[in-house]
Amino acid sequence: MKRMILAAAMAFAVTACSQSDAPASDAGEVNVFSSRHYDTDLALYEDFTEQTGITVNLIEADADALIERIVSEGDLTSADLLVTVDAGRLWRAEEAGILAPVESDVLGERLPAHLRHPDGLWFGLSTRARVIIYNRAAGTPEGLEDYADLADPAWRGDICIRSSSNIYNISLLSSMIANQGAEAAESWASGVVANFARDPQGNDTAQIESVAAGECRIAVVNTYYLARFAGSEEPEQRAIFDALGVIFPDQDGNGTHVNVSGAGLVAGAPNRDNAIAFLEYLTSESAQRYFADGNNEYPAVEGLQANSAVEQLGTFRADTLNAAEIGRNQRQAVEIFDRAGWN
Ligand code: FE
Repeated sequence: MKRMILAAAMAFAVTACSQSDAPASDAGEVNVFSSRHYDTDLALYEDFTEQTGITVNLIEADADALIERIVSEGDLTSADLLVTVDAGRLWRAEEAGILAPVESDVLGERLPAHLRHPDGLWFGLSTRARVIIYNRAAGTPEGLEDYADLADPAWRGDICIRSSSNIYNISLLSSMIANQGAEAAESWASGVVANFARDPQGNDTAQIESVAAGECRIAVVNTYYLARFAGSEEPEQRAIFDALGVIFPDQDGNGTHVNVSGAGLVAGAPNRDNAIAFLEYLTSESAQRYFADGNNEYPAVEGLQANSAVEQLGTFRADTLNAAEIGRNQRQAVEIFDRAGWN
């Protein structure tokens, strides 16, 4: 693999060279614009090149920056595929009009319907769940089973959660708007604000550490942050995980809220066929393994297991609300958070 710095690029490009006899140029290339940055993703791109001879050029940056760049390049864009995290960001790409529909039997068969856009604008490739954690030393929080329970006055001063400007919370509230309606979502948000242990601060990792330290009894975090502690080789990190209980909410209702990492074909992609071939490759069993493991996520293809650190969190039933629906409610969710005073 050779790396080259693109002078004008906002990040870097990786060219994964084919080991096959045919030079990579014969099979062409695919330009992947990605906001994911995990070493396993690189291994994945190299494997694709070995199998197909197609060279993968990787441009990495923050999702909003990538979307902006593709918009500004218009018809002249070099982007073939946009890879990003969270339904909210996939929705921003959809809203920006930079994605083109893909019809593929392979993708249709391998991915469950709720993890792909109804018109094929993007495809979910791995998932993460947003779960409730609690401090075990403070005792099992009786009656805390669903997201709705977080608004119960029984938990006054107990809840730590990150800012409402964070897309994970926006997507969670968006799913509640879809499932229970805007009114219920708003009274929930107000109820949770009333239960805050402190003003929202820090990322999900900070919430985990605060619960383990007993600074707050309860928090809401994504599963892959927990899996980093659960799978850590450092005893201090493991001890943090051991101090926590994990609740997968809404098991008797809609199921636990999950969100996606996904990819969509860019409208005007110069290497359209290669991009679709790459998308299909990403749903193969070995690629799913790499893609999900890169960030301790759940494979999107049904029947494939998550890694052992993720499995330690327990099994659950996921909400099958389409991620496109989660995207659509983002704006309303932000307005509700504002009115609820959730900073
Ligand atoms: Fe994250």
